[in-house]
Amino acid sequence: MPLRAKVATGVSKTAAALSRAAGRGDGSVIGGWIGLKIDPDLLAHLASGRAVALISGTNGKTTTTRLAAAAVSHIGRVATNSFGANMPTGHTSALAKAGTTPFAVLEVDEHYLARVIDATSPRVVALLNLSRDQLDRAKEVAMMAQLWRDALAGHPEVRVVANADDPMVVWAARAAAHVVWVASGQRWHDDSWVCPECGSHIERPPGTGDWYCTGCDLRRPTPQWSVDGDAVVDPSGVRHPVALQLPGRINRANAATALAVAAEFGADPAQAAPRLAQVASVAGRYATVHKDGRTIRLLLAKNPAGWLEAFDMAEAAPTLLSINARDPDGLDTSWLYDVDFSPLHGRRVLITGDRAMDLAVRLEVNEIEFEHVTSFAKALAAVPPGRLEVIANYTAFQDIRAELNRVN
Ligand SMILES: [Zn+2]
Repeated sequence: MPLRAKVATGVSKTAAALSRAAGRGDGSVIGGWIGLKIDPDLLAHLASGRAVALISGTNGKTTTTRLAAAAVSHIGRVATNSFGANMPTGHTSALAKAGTTPFAVLEVDEHYLARVIDATSPRVVALLNLSRDQLDRAKEVAMMAQLWRDALAGHPEVRVVANADDPMVVWAARAAAHVVWVASGQRWHDDSWVCPECGSHIERPPGTGDWYCTGCDLRRPTPQWSVDGDAVVDPSGVRHPVALQLPGRINRANAATALAVAAEFGADPAQAAPRLAQVASVAGRYATVHKDGRTIRLLLAKNPAGWLEAFDMAEAAPTLLSINARDPDGLDTSWLYDVDFSPLHGRRVLITGDRAMDLAVRLEVNEIEFEHVTSFAKALAAVPPGRLEVIANYTAFQDIRAELNRVN
């Protein structure tokens, strides 16, 4: 590494350690920021010599990154940004902190993917899905697909692992020279009814899982990797049972992507699969907390597609929904009308959060009974001992985590 890069790495690590010591988070952003100020090419210097995988998408990237890092760890040490600091500052800090490793698995914010591909020359890029993140960003879905497409077209050496069930992802990935398709599913269809290639309608014959454009040749590619019950099926048809601690079909799909990424690095899926069971919670998501005889599970849902997945993951138990509309959440709650809340029928529903009333109106429309509680503690007191599922958007989730940390 050039001298400037060495100095920048040292300062970056020191700054991160100081930030941690001062109790100001894990330091991954500030450390990386200072390092990049000293050496703008620091990320490239730190990435060189490692086999790098980048993982991006609207939903599931933090979880998939954790699963992929676990899978790859079967063949060597892995550097990863496990705290979800998914922009270049976070990547720089994660690589500086990890020291020399043969592998790196990095979660990348979808807006930064092109830049991080340029900087890290990855061997593998995994593309999970694209959907609206907040209402005011809905139009960005097609634009994002275009950015990904351009980035991949400029890097024919990259091997892409992509979701065959998301038309926007398929369109972006088709520009790549090598693609491995994963049948990851797509519960949320509302951002991909229109073909990004020709503008025609995308048809989804009910019950088939298939999709195709009615105006051009864009259609669902044949996947090499898929999910069958509790197993991931590899390209040669071998089933690898995955005993995940994480709930839901979507996490088994994330496991399939993780194994596909590891396989691109030369890992044996049969050896890598058992490692996936080590991942218990991801930055507090899916964490199970025991308190006063209640088993509380926390599910984060940041956008409409995420809410649909959360309903699938939650067990049929009393369920607390919490919604805020602060800056990180988006200020507009009208996205609530994009989400079908009917899966909640027949279960006990409690609501809380800054915007509980918006949620109340939405549930009324779906004729779902609910109780309003003014705090998480009150929700806990209102339900009998046993399981409580909590589904919350970003800042509501952080509020509840903070409240649980205080009492535990
Ligand atoms: Zn088309």
